[in-house]
Amino acid sequence: MPRERIYLFDTTLRDGAQTNGVDFTLADKLAIAHMLEELGIDYVEGGYPGANPTDTELFAADRGLKTKFTAFGMTRRPGRSASNDPGLALLLDAHADAICFVAKAWDYHVRVALETTNEENIASIRDSVRAAKAKGREVMLDCEHFFDGYKANPAYALSCAKAAYEEGARWVVLCDTNGGTLPDEIERIVGAVVKEIPGDHVGIHAHNDTEQAVANSFAAVRAGARQIQGTLNGLGERCGNANLVSIIPTLKLKPEYADRFEIGTSDAALAKLTQLSHALDERLNRAANRHAPYVGESAFATKAGIHASAIAKAPATYEHVAPESVGNKRKVLVSEQAGKSNVLTELERIGIKAEKDDPRIGRLLEIVKEREAQGYAYEAADASFELLARRTLGTVPTYFDVTQFDVNVEQRINAKGERVTVTMAVVKVTVGDERLISAAEGNGPVNALDVALRKDLGKYQKYMAGLTLTDYRVRILNGGTEAVTRVLIESQDDTGDRWTTVGVSANIIDASFQALMDSIVFKLVKSGAPA
Ligand SMILES: [Zn+2]
Repeated sequence: MPRERIYLFDTTLRDGAQTNGVDFTLADKLAIAHMLEELGIDYVEGGYPGANPTDTELFAADRGLKTKFTAFGMTRRPGRSASNDPGLALLLDAHADAICFVAKAWDYHVRVALETTNEENIASIRDSVRAAKAKGREVMLDCEHFFDGYKANPAYALSCAKAAYEEGARWVVLCDTNGGTLPDEIERIVGAVVKEIPGDHVGIHAHNDTEQAVANSFAAVRAGARQIQGTLNGLGERCGNANLVSIIPTLKLKPEYADRFEIGTSDAALAKLTQLSHALDERLNRAANRHAPYVGESAFATKAGIHASAIAKAPATYEHVAPESVGNKRKVLVSEQAGKSNVLTELERIGIKAEKDDPRIGRLLEIVKEREAQGYAYEAADASFELLARRTLGTVPTYFDVTQFDVNVEQRINAKGERVTVTMAVVKVTVGDERLISAAEGNGPVNALDVALRKDLGKYQKYMAGLTLTDYRVRILNGGTEAVTRVLIESQDDTGDRWTTVGVSANIIDASFQALMDSIVFKLVKSGAPA
């Protein structure tokens, strides 16, 4: 049986731009539009031409995109003609493949917000769709507050939608603008709409105010709607819009949908979804949601020992889809609750061969448990775990030895009469027969220690080029009678690889030193430095 097409409409650049703390530049918008095109999105809504300088510039010329770039704006204002409305003129003149109008579909809003009559609102919809069609654009209408409007006055809500369809709008999009409608209501109301307007002309625009925007989108599809609007990572004002990053894999991988429908996203594009989702967060300078379905770092992570042993035998036993299909990775967490099978699976992942009954595996597990009780977090510090494992199995050489370090923090008044804090670190290192002393200043004790430590490592110095610390996190743990400090350091090298190391001590400098040492030694192991 031929599969029906579902069209995906992304509004990250328009509705998603309403997210608290998100402010897209023109460069951001263009980069995200290209990401969406690669993902196989049918329509990319860019913004409101004429509403702000960024969007006006965005729509001033062609952007070289194959996806249908869509401009958003209001239908003509009540009491004006379509040819005498400057806002509408800007929208019609924008370089866009499609125009998405927004209009009220709730009579209460027509009266109170628009202060016009039901008839004039419908005339405005008809005139605007007609004007955009005359300009050769593909046209759609977002019916604002459609579901609340339908519950209050079904005949009027429906007549707004029908007016657009009758004038030749390609899509009539039913919006749950306040986000409070529940899936069974969506299914019932969309079911009623598709009796009047064919489902392959009906879209759904859901907001996440009851955490059901994705479920509501699927409810609309079950009832017959064939366009889904949403955003990347569920961006959007308040609780966000329907998350396309969750919707796309469900459409592609769940037989209930995959057998009946097809979308523009290829298997190859799906396999880059995790990367795309993280790239967006990176651009927004915010941490990715570890627990995001499909693409989160924890989406395929297992902790308990019994699950890990089953996963090692047959991954499908504890995974609803294959992590690689969405570009994610299976992860077995090595933690206090770890069993032997977690450790074995993790060792295999990092490329260390070990037999199940090797006594050193039991020893490693004991050390992990012991150290986690002291505050070490190997789950978060993959590189420290790998070093611990390699050391327990006897494969990490002693590259160098730090015989002494000294960190001095001094506050004083400088020559200009300003109060300044100066930090200086001195590190004594033995590399083979060589004894080296390095000193460095830093903006704080950890920075000074790091700079001094990496300043001169003799024959290993060449491996340090390109190594940078990208994150430093400190946490005070209250275990037992005294507080201890846990430091997590994230490092990166010029190959783009990132790794995290951990240190724990009652003293923050000592904890930082442990994590720094692990990071440097890990880099040497990784680079294949000779002993
Ligand atoms: Zn919206």
